[in-house]
Amino acid sequence: MDLDELRPDADRLWNGIEELSGFTEPDHDGWTRRVLGEPYLESRGWVAAQMAGAGLQVHTDAAGNTIGVLAGTEGKASIGTGSHTDTVARGGRFDGIVGTLGAIEVALRLRETGTRLRDDLVVIDFLGEEPNEFGTSCIGSRALTGAVSPDFFDRTNDDGRTLGDRLQVAGFPPDGMLGLRWPAAPLRGFVELHIEQGPVLERTGTELGVVTAIAGIERVVASFLGRADHAGTAAMTDRKDALAAAAQAILTVEQIGCSGENSVATVGTVHVEPGALNVVPSLARLWAEMRSPSPDWLGTARRELMDRFAAIAAERGIEVDLRRLTDQDPVPTAHSVQDLIADTSDDLGYSWRSIPSGAGHDAAHLAAIAPAGMIFVPSRAGRSHCPEEWTDREDIARGAHALAATLVRMDGLALERDPR
Ligand SMILES: [Zn+2]
Repeated sequence: MDLDELRPDADRLWNGIEELSGFTEPDHDGWTRRVLGEPYLESRGWVAAQMAGAGLQVHTDAAGNTIGVLAGTEGKASIGTGSHTDTVARGGRFDGIVGTLGAIEVALRLRETGTRLRDDLVVIDFLGEEPNEFGTSCIGSRALTGAVSPDFFDRTNDDGRTLGDRLQVAGFPPDGMLGLRWPAAPLRGFVELHIEQGPVLERTGTELGVVTAIAGIERVVASFLGRADHAGTAAMTDRKDALAAAAQAILTVEQIGCSGENSVATVGTVHVEPGALNVVPSLARLWAEMRSPSPDWLGTARRELMDRFAAIAAERGIEVDLRRLTDQDPVPTAHSVQDLIADTSDDLGYSWRSIPSGAGHDAAHLAAIAPAGMIFVPSRAGRSHCPEEWTDREDIARGAHALAATLVRMDGLALERDPR
């Protein structure tokens, strides 16, 4: 078929993004539509209506995923696409939203051009992709791919409330999430359109990114245990200053982050006790995280971080307690899907480059059950998770066009799942 026909209606897609941004928690700057918040739950009715308007059969599964299915002529297999519509607090209008509304636009264009797929097309708005107050993320895509166990729901927020309790109140009891299955015929492949959330595409003047891997994460909490002393009388040579040790540790984390390609390391928060102006700190606890598409780098970096923290403490004669918090392996995307996106982009005349994703995505969970891939579109100045987040209308349209053409080519294909 003529792939050019699948070009989306850029204005319609843009207007949808504008309209969805109207569902926002009123007490924040920017756009805030956090998972299970009132505006979010309301907005999902709007998303479901858009899906229905595109001719999709819509339902909400037990994990709160809003799912629209366009039945294929054969229906022996399905192809999947979609993203999320929740945001972080004071977030933007594009992260996740472009992929969800872009997928609905694809369904609209298929209908408008009279294009019938053999496979079922499954469009998903996944529940709660962003990190939430319970210290987890990607609730819907984890549940849909069988990646949740009962203890997942026992996580608590600062008020001591569990995630399970909160989901139950929202109408998604945890029992229903366990043992959830992919909603249609066996999944042939999955493609997620998303904004880059980084500066590479814009900086290199490239129209699309073909994602090679979704970064893994290692998190470590380090508690430096010194001794509280009077800040006026304790001599500099006699101190056991926990915060000074932590400061050295933070710079070490920065150095480690600079040591790997496409890798980063951050200390995002520090807790100090007793926290008084005139007392030498007795405790400094810091949370460090490292992200990389390379499992080897992540493993080496974590060991180095722990060794160097121990050395810093030893040098200062204080204790350090090191705990590995979570780890999430990097997820390579399927080379078969990367090739399909790249070849399709060539045929559409769009420039592209291979790019790893530093952020987590629903597609990383889908990769556990099917060949999965992602298409990135540029983010202005690489900004994301902030009100300044921006992607041009034409960039979004190109991404949705590449998504449509890739899905049409995936129809009926037997794809390999092996990562490159
Ligand atoms: Zn996202």
